Order: sequence, then C-alpha cells, then structure tokens
Amino acid sequence: MGNPPAHRAKKIFGQNFLHDQGVIRRIITSISPKPGDHLVEIGPGQGAITRELLKATGRLQAVELDRDLLEPLAQACGDLGELHIFNADAMKFDFCQLAEDGNLLRLVGNLPYNISTPILFHLLEQAHCIEDMHFMLQKEVVDRIAAGPGSKTYGRLSVMIQSRCKVSNLFDIGPGAFKPAPKVDSGFLRLTPYKDSPYDITDQARFSGLVTQAFSQRRKTLRNCLKKMIDAEIFEAAGIDPTLRAEQLAVEDFVRLANMACKTA
Ligand code: SAH
Repeated sequence: MGNPPAHRAKKIFGQNFLHDQGVIRRIITSISPKPGDHLVEIGPGQGAITRELLKATGRLQAVELDRDLLEPLAQACGDLGELHIFNADAMKFDFCQLAEDGNLLRLVGNLPYNISTPILFHLLEQAHCIEDMHFMLQKEVVDRIAAGPGSKTYGRLSVMIQSRCKVSNLFDIGPGAFKPAPKVDSGFLRLTPYKDSPYDITDQARFSGLVTQAFSQRRKTLRNCLKKMIDAEIFEAAGIDPTLRAEQLAVEDFVRLANMACKTA
C-alpha cells in the first residue's frame, strides 16, 4: 500500500493543522486525559491531538465536517483505540446526546477560527452536559473571553461565557506551530462549566437579551441602551448607576439587573 495523497488544507473549513510536537505535548498535559474520561474532539483534522488523546484513553468520539479527512484520520488512529467519528457540523451537533450515559463530556478542539464564536455559544447552551472544554482559539478571542470589566476587550462574549464557566487562559502559541501558518497568534484555554454556579440566573433568555442589548452600543450609557428593559427604579434597587457603560459592569451586576427585570416583567 502506498501513502494516501496528501490532504490540502482547506481555507473554508478553517484548517490549520498543528505540527509542533512541543505544543501538542503542552496541550495534552493541560487536558490531562485519563482512562474513563468521555472525550469528544471537535475538528480532529489529521489527528494531531486525536492520536495523543486516544493513546491516553483508548476511546474517543470526534465531530469533523470535512468528509475528505475521515478515512485518513481513521487510518492514522486505527491502531490506537476506539475512534468514533461523526461527519457533522459542530455548530449544529447535539453534544448532549453523547452524554446520555450520565458521564459528562470533556470537549477538546483546535477550533476553526472563522466560526469559533458561534460554536462557543452553541456549546454554552449544552454546558450542563460538559465537564470541561479545552480549546485553541485566535488569541484575540481568548483575550475577549478572559477579559474583566473596564477592559476594552470586555464584552458580550466575556460576560456570557464567564456567567457559565470558570475561564483559565493557559498559554499562547505562535503561527509557526501550524501548517499552513495562520496570520494571527493563537491561545489555548480551559472553560469549566459551573456545577454550583456563583450566579443565580433566574431566566437565561432574559439575561442573554439584556447583555446583548447592553453591549449593542458600547459608547452609550446603560440607561440609554436598556431603556426598554430597565427603568430608573430597577437601576436604583439594584444599586447600579445608570450613567455607567456596559463595559464597567461585573458579571454579577448583569445577573442582578436581569433578575430584577424578571420580577417586574
Ligand atoms: N485538530 C486538528 C485540526 C484543526 S483545523 C489539528 O490541530 O491539527 C480545524 C478542524 O476543524 C479541521 O479539521 C476542519 O475540517 C474542522 N472543521 C471546520 N469546520 C467545522 C465544523 N463546522 N464542524 C466540525 N469540524 C469542523
């Protein structure tokens, strides 16, 4: 048998394959996979991370959109354990169905950068089925996720993720670790959905709506952005100055405001 033809990386699928063994090792060490873990990889590609995960656990599920990668991937991993690949779009995939045995999922992925934010929002909706998530993302996105109030990068993504997950910004990776090399720096992070959340959000949809609205025009005051949802008395009862801007509020402030809006709705 000869070698299969080399796969040409496809831009539309955001394919930047990891090849730096040192970086792969650091990723695996951070994930610390153990036998019995219910690992699910998003976008396994040619198996750079997949192979190492399989070696550690002997069993892995993966969601890969590019049909052309399925066969080479199965071949590259076949000898290492039980790999089940779903040929599907991670943005629409029902991850919770995989957790029906009650074993929470450990998600891993070097995510396609062009769609990483919608994938993250899709996964947040399924956070109750997830133990933790380790993702490679554009560094700029990692910075936005981890940002705190008062920072320019703090926004809807930061608040929505931090309200559901503990965020650990693990390390940065330069473009040279990938083939082809992306134009931007990357970052690796861990998101751990809260089991006992410090935030008691009474209505998730209302909370999400309020955060979106508050950041819709960053330069405007909360009073202006939230005119339709929050009146002066609620700002006062929540102890929040309505002349502030959204980027100055902590996650718990958004939770308090949204919960109080519920009560009067
Ligand atoms: N994990 C590999 C590949 C990373 S590149 C590595 O580190 O080398 C991103 C991968 O995500 C590619 O394999 C790409 O085909 C896949 N992908 C792109 N869009 C996807 C989607 N919507 N759902 C699932 N996988 C997707």
